[in-house]
Amino acid sequence: MFDCSINMNDCIFCDIVSGQAEATLVWQDDLVSAFMDIQPVNVGHIDIVPNVHASRLSDLPEDTGAHMFRIAQRIAHALRQSGIPCEGVNMFLADGKAAMQEIFHVHLHVFPRIPGDGFGLKFGEDYFAKPTRAELEEVGEKIRRAIGQGAEGDVVNRAP
Ligand SMILES: [Zn+2]
Repeated sequence: MFDCSINMNDCIFCDIVSGQAEATLVWQDDLVSAFMDIQPVNVGHIDIVPNVHASRLSDLPEDTGAHMFRIAQRIAHALRQSGIPCEGVNMFLADGKAAMQEIFHVHLHVFPRIPGDGFGLKFGEDYFAKPTRAELEEVGEKIRRAIGQGAEGDVVNRAP
């Protein structure tokens, strides 16, 4: 079991990682732990968390985030092999309250999907009004600058 270096008080995921709270683990290594979600979307719903407390994705070392996805990919494959009803797999990460994050320790949901299971995403009213290429370029440029790759950078810019 891991001793979180910054074990936040009242963080259920830190308590699970350290073994202080009950959980059904399916994977644990030096960087991440994966366990059964106690309120599953479908049977087989797994949550993957970094072993060290990070409230937001921006607090998480990139290598740990990459490893979370590596293990998520492995678990998605395992779900399909497990005999649990699983005709598809969704991964879901909520970063911030507006994105429906409820537990402020980064976690990646991985869960099986079966037709008619009732889970879904709801689009906003503006979804069907597609932006122009100029609008996409304007927003894309803001994001490229924020990443640190301006128009003169080595970003792959496929605009004609
Ligand atoms: Zn935590």
